[in-house]
Amino acid sequence: MTDAMDANATGTGFKVEEKLFQNRYLVDVGRPHITIKPHDVPSKALLALTHACPAGCYSKNDSGQVEATIDGCLECGTCRVITAKTGDIEWNYPRGGFGVLFKFG
Ligand code: SF4
Repeated sequence: MTDAMDANATGTGFKVEEKLFQNRYLVDVGRPHITIKPHDVPSKALLALTHACPAGCYSKNDSGQVEATIDGCLECGTCRVITAKTGDIEWNYPRGGFGVLFKFG
């Protein structure tokens, strides 16, 4: 998260992290809805995901490859759009009944 996403960025006085904590997730164990295609060196698009994902699902591992932990995925589709031309990831919605449960208010 950046300073720009700090308190009051949501217009509610809450930090983005505090708002995200309100959501609930039902993880479809063993059936990730996003997978990264195997790579030795990540493309620029793949590297961009480590900064662009609002839930912080993407990170670089010690070998320099990008990996994803999608348990907190918001299903916003940002990563899908960024990698649309490169095909670095395979993106699907979770199966019915799984995924993010947004809590409003
Ligand atoms: S869909 Fe959105 S929240 Fe989910 S992994 Fe992609 S960028 Fe992150």
